[in-house]
Amino acid sequence: MINYTERIALLMDDVVRRTPSLSFIKLPEIVIFGRFGRADAEGAFATCHCLTLPTSEPGYFFWKDRATGEMTRQSEWFITKSPTVRVGPTQIKYLISFVLPRFCNQSLKHSRKAEHYPGAPPWVGKLDTIVHELYHIDPEHSGLRRVKCADGSDSERSHGPHFYADVARMVKAYLASRPDPSLVGFLECDFDQLNDRFGGVAATTFRNFPSFPQRYMERCEMPATEPLVRIEPLKRPTQPELYTEDDLDIRQFTENSTRRLTRKGQHRAA
Ligand SMILES: [Zn+2]
Repeated sequence: MINYTERIALLMDDVVRRTPSLSFIKLPEIVIFGRFGRADAEGAFATCHCLTLPTSEPGYFFWKDRATGEMTRQSEWFITKSPTVRVGPTQIKYLISFVLPRFCNQSLKHSRKAEHYPGAPPWVGKLDTIVHELYHIDPEHSGLRRVKCADGSDSERSHGPHFYADVARMVKAYLASRPDPSLVGFLECDFDQLNDRFGGVAATTFRNFPSFPQRYMERCEMPATEPLVRIEPLKRPTQPELYTEDDLDIRQFTENSTRRLTRKGQHRAA
C-alpha cells in the first residue's frame, strides 16, 4: 500500500530544498495528514492549519431579551486556544491536511489554475496544491502568511492577487530543476491507478479521526458581567488538549470510507 501523506512529506522536503523562498520551512515541524472527502463531491483539496496562533483574549457568549434588549444570560468566560501537538521532542507548528481520495483525482483540466500552466500535464494541478499549502506558512512563523494589498496594508483575505502566480512560478522552477521522478511520479496516478499499482492508499490520520487538532474553548475565571444574570456552563472540551505521536494512526482510504490500519509505532502482536 502507498502511504500517500508520507510521499507528500518527502516531496515537500525536496520542494523546500530546491525553492529558495520556501527554504525557511522546517518539515519536521509540520504534520501532513489525511481527511476523508469523496472525489465526486465539491470541496477543498487541502488545507494549511496553524497551531501557533496566540490564545485569544477572554470572552463570553450572551443572550438578550428580544423586547427589552437586556442581557438575560451569559456563558462562562472562556479563552480560545490551539492544542499542543508534539512528535517526539518536536513541537508541531503547522498541520497540512489532504482530502482523500478527492486530492488524488485533482486535475488541471477545467480548473482555474490551468491558465498558469499552458501545455502542462493534468497532474501538475496536484503539485500546485502542495506548493500552495507550503506557501501559506508564514516566514515569521506567526501564523498564516499575511497577504499585502496593493497599498501595503494587510489584506483580510489569505490569497492576494499574486498568490496564485507566485505558486505557479515556484512549481515551474521546481519542475525545471529536474526533480527525481521517484519523488514526483506518484502524482501522475489518479486514485484508481494508485490502487491498481500499490494495492491501496493509506495516510496518516489522528486517532480521533475524523477529527484532528483544532482550536478549542477553555473556561477561565472572570467576574459576571451583570451580577444578576444567569451563567450558562460551557461545554467541556471533548478533544485532547495535547497530542503526541501516540495519537497518530494510519488509515486506508477507499472511494467511500476509511479503515484503521495498525497504529504508528505500535507493534502488532504476533
Ligand atoms: Zn490557500
